[in-house]
Amino acid sequence: MRLGFHVSIAGGLERCVRRTLIRRCTTLQMFSGAPVQWARPHISDEDCAAFVEALAERDIRPHFVHAKYLLNVSSPDEELRAKSVADLCEEMAIALKLRAAGVVIHLGSVGDEGAVEEGTQRVARAVDAACHAVLDAPAVILENSAGQGNIVGAQFEQLAEIVAATHCPERVRCCVDTAHAFGAGMALHTPEGVEEMVARIDATFGLERLALLHVNDSKVPFASGRDRHWHIGRGEIGREGMTRIVNHPRLVHLPFVMETPGAEADDVSNMRRIRRLIRPENRPPLPPLPADLRR
Ligand SMILES: [Zn+2]
Ligand SMILES: [Zn+2]
Repeated sequence: MRLGFHVSIAGGLERCVRRTLIRRCTTLQMFSGAPVQWARPHISDEDCAAFVEALAERDIRPHFVHAKYLLNVSSPDEELRAKSVADLCEEMAIALKLRAAGVVIHLGSVGDEGAVEEGTQRVARAVDAACHAVLDAPAVILENSAGQGNIVGAQFEQLAEIVAATHCPERVRCCVDTAHAFGAGMALHTPEGVEEMVARIDATFGLERLALLHVNDSKVPFASGRDRHWHIGRGEIGREGMTRIVNHPRLVHLPFVMETPGAEADDVSNMRRIRRLIRPENRPPLPPLPADLRR
């Protein structure tokens, strides 16, 4: 098991490493720029190399890049889709430079009129383009959704369909966000719901294809179709649900990445809280806080 957060890169990669250490992460996820702007900052080769070295030095691995929120690779709007695919290709090149394990993408919305089946085919073509554009690049990681606004990926079957429809299935992996699964109708606040999630992963895209878990509690009720992340154990999935998820024998080998709201202090307490929920035999050692970051 590895524990980490989605960590901000505001101010540069060095600041990102610093935030990662303060949060005592052993894995992480990041954006490569601003998630709601098409323009992206230039990241120099030197900065990349220093970043890769800093993570390796502390044994922080794997790390993931999350694509921009602007991306909509299943949109019926051709211009937006083309722009999204082009940006995904750039993201793959950056992820390669950063030595990331993969690029996590939301599957986009087909809009009010669209059919989700058409969306899955469009996602598959986008994945093909991304794999083709950057041959040695890391995996494309498909994330499940809560289903709001006709976003593709509310059912694990749709992720499996996309994998089956790509020409590069060996390059495609999946990410399950617990808050999204809960919103999409998986009763993760109950023991049966957690078992159902694992069984459905098994029956669709397969556990071996799961690259990471986004471990988030949910601020909105079960099966709401909505996506509002909340602090670990303090939301509608709750303490018991979260405890079952983070100790599930079929999931404990995975990197767990939290995307909980708030600032540094909130992250530090979410890390403390998730560690308390994890049984000692599953709990990874806490990385020491570097001397220059102690306060
Ligand atoms: Zn995401
Ligand atoms: Zn979310």
